[in-house]
Amino acid sequence: MAAPASAATPKVELRNVNLRYFGLEGETEALKDVSISIAPGEFVAIIGQSGCGKSTLLSLISGILMPTDGTVLLDGKPVTGPSRKVGYMLQQDYLFEWRTILENAVLGAEIQGADMAKARERAAALLTRYGLGQFLRHLPRQLSGGMRQRVALARTLCTEPDVVLLDEPFAALDSQTRLALSDEIAVILRREKKTAILVTHDIGEAVSMAERVIVLSRRPGRVKSDHAIRFAGAHGTRPTPLAARNSAEFNGYFNALWQELEVHVEG
Ligand code: ADP
Ligand code: MG
Repeated sequence: MAAPASAATPKVELRNVNLRYFGLEGETEALKDVSISIAPGEFVAIIGQSGCGKSTLLSLISGILMPTDGTVLLDGKPVTGPSRKVGYMLQQDYLFEWRTILENAVLGAEIQGADMAKARERAAALLTRYGLGQFLRHLPRQLSGGMRQRVALARTLCTEPDVVLLDEPFAALDSQTRLALSDEIAVILRREKKTAILVTHDIGEAVSMAERVIVLSRRPGRVKSDHAIRFAGAHGTRPTPLAARNSAEFNGYFNALWQELEVHVEG
């Protein structure tokens, strides 16, 4: 019998992972010798330039994609395909325009063949908690971009995953909404003790939301560095992302990561 996962078992682990895409135009090396270990309940951001393999990394963790070499583990067990333990939230909300907000929020549960009465109850509770209680019977087009992303979050959390993968979930939003929503979502994921992996190319978003920021190099993506992000908060509690942005430490982290990302304006 397999040993139970102990407190020391990482929630998510990548061991020497390589990923090569094989296509008509030849081979693309997307990730090279990536090893990352993420503890239960940790909130980690992964940053890197466009095309460095960030989405590929999340696809590997979600079990949609298998590594060319190396191993991906969830609770100490090799990932062999998609798992109910993992929820995925994307930049596009992919809401179905003909379904009500509530029916959109239960979509994941429906696909998994879950008890739909319970799923509807859970989705309604989540939507209400996220300030959308009055919109359960509305259609997506009646909602703002920020509200739609909250529906997408409710849909992701409705299936009760332990691990939440976020692939640039705020990138399509205006900057005001983006700040407010990233703040809300970070608070929600912490309160619900989810293990969260946020992929972004926005340094400020990473530093303000995550307790750890991993930098990937340009393609093929390798782990370039791994930073613990600490704020001198009251009683060791983490400030909300908005408060973190106003803290004394924020600019130091921002500048260090900016240097590492080797951001160059093209042209
Ligand atoms: P990021 O999310 O950091 O922008 P991706 O993980 O999407 O990067 O892609 C990493 C690299 O792999 C890019 O060069 C991209 O063009 C390539 N790539 C992504 N998906 C495929 C695919 N299905 N087939 C071939 N190449 C791909
Ligand atoms: Mg991407």
